[in-house]
Amino acid sequence: MAIKQLYLFSHQASRLYLDLSSITFDDQIILMLPTSMDTRYPYHQFRLVFHHSIVEHFAQELQTEGYNVVVVRELDIQACLSLCDAASNVVTFVSPIDTATINELQSALDTLDIENATFIEDQFFYLTAFELHQWFSEQQHWKMANFYIMMRKRFNILMDNDKPHLGKYSFDGENRKRAPKDYVNTPAAPVSIDSITQEVIERIATEYPNHPKSDTPFFYAVTRAQALDALQHFITHHLATFGVVQDAMLQGNPFMSHALLSLYMNNGLLSPKEVVDRVLQAYEANKAPIEAVEGFIRQILGWREYIRGVYQERMPEYKLINHLNNHQDLPEFFWTADTSMNCLHQTIQETIANSYNHHIQRLMILSNYANLIGVEPLQVSDWFNSMYIDSHDWVVTPNVHGMGLYADGGLMSTKPYISTGNYINKMSDYCSTCYFDPKVKEGPTACPFHQLYWSFIDRHRDTLSTNPRMSLMYRTAK
Ligand SMILES: Cc1cc2nc3c(=O)[nH]c(=O)nc-3n(C[C@H](O)[C@H](O)[C@H](O)COP(=O)(O)OP(=O)(O)OC[C@H]3O[C@@H](n4cnc5c(N)ncnc54)[C@H](O)[C@@H]3O)c2cc1C
Ligand code: SF4
Repeated sequence: MAIKQLYLFSHQASRLYLDLSSITFDDQIILMLPTSMDTRYPYHQFRLVFHHSIVEHFAQELQTEGYNVVVVRELDIQACLSLCDAASNVVTFVSPIDTATINELQSALDTLDIENATFIEDQFFYLTAFELHQWFSEQQHWKMANFYIMMRKRFNILMDNDKPHLGKYSFDGENRKRAPKDYVNTPAAPVSIDSITQEVIERIATEYPNHPKSDTPFFYAVTRAQALDALQHFITHHLATFGVVQDAMLQGNPFMSHALLSLYMNNGLLSPKEVVDRVLQAYEANKAPIEAVEGFIRQILGWREYIRGVYQERMPEYKLINHLNNHQDLPEFFWTADTSMNCLHQTIQETIANSYNHHIQRLMILSNYANLIGVEPLQVSDWFNSMYIDSHDWVVTPNVHGMGLYADGGLMSTKPYISTGNYINKMSDYCSTCYFDPKVKEGPTACPFHQLYWSFIDRHRDTLSTNPRMSLMYRTAK
């Protein structure tokens, strides 16, 4: 009798897929850890530990319950398919999103002559790939604000009948302030390292000794139960202040009021719908103000889905776009944090320690600097793909090439996200202990961002001066 074989990558290790394919104890679940996917970039060891440990825990959990589970660690996806018997069994995959994985899987299926595999839709988004395609193909301009309004209406989230709750779709006017003096962050207790994770940590350290690594012990959740605790921690301690300090940066405070949930939504441990539902419940119970709740939901219902859509619609050419014609190399200090610019030093130190930075550090410190000095977009996105615990190409490429570097010429943002040190000084406490001074324009202590900003404006005059949102800058620069 034909059995079912369900093949899952590490970011798909979720029970939702077992339910969708009606897997029973007689069937087979194959969890794949191909080396080709571990070495696509020089991934931070935390990211590799995270993916491997999720798989090992999931396998153990299912085996204990009586499922037939195999973990295959082979050189590439083709080798991982050695158990695949599509002639006599029902073979199912979950559709990957990253182009490199789609291509590698397709080529393995072609080589092995597997024609009749079934593909399940990724369950960790609101919209299906087809629904996203429909929206993007109907739009003349891909405006995230319009996409977000459509999503609010379509899923009836924060709506009072057909009107936005409390009369508007965005409450950002009350968000994005400097951190108040009495701001408190309540760190979650680190997830304890059990014997499975310990073994994975040792394996990764041995197999990938030259990949970026942290001196901090690994602390992220690797099971669904632990990820649910992380969600609860965010709702209890940080949701209420999420909006107001969303763009604030403080030294020694790498997480502020950010959720630290992207890694779990991107890797099958939490669904975006359950995260949004829990946030809505907290709002209904008066645990958080509307500006925090709406601002947070916009990130998931709006930005996360929209970013996936841009990737889906624009790959593969989106990987090579370079509208500003940037060709400099990424500075070596991105791998070491060895720079006297304190904002970059603090941020990159945190990248290395935690394999994480919050959004405004990614955008207004790292991408801002890389864009001002003219680094080639692919080198920047390779670095982001490598360093972050939550990285996947579908989310890195549009965020870096589109939002961070304006390499798409304005498909995603109406102007480049660039700034002098004044913005960094306003939103952080980095400048107070920096060798440089954001108020000094010339001389050895002048903040490098000042000169870099104005030379960027000058260098891109032909490309940017006709942009209405940049005209003030060009009038000032005359
Ligand atoms: C240059 C750059 C690189 C980025 N690289 C990644 C990446 O590798 N992986 C990743 O998941 N996100 C990436 N982002 C988006 C965003 O910065 C992260 O999702 C966020 O910092 C994750 O931390 P958090 O869970 O604490 O998020 P919070 O700040 O608490 O936000 C809540 C959630 O909203 C979603 N979200 C918010 N903004 C975005 C966005 N622009 N794109 C997609 N989802 C978003 C995430 O799921 C996140 O968990 C990047 C953004 C920039 C500008
Ligand atoms: S003075 Fe300039 S380089 Fe130093 S922290 Fe501030 S913005 Fe960064």
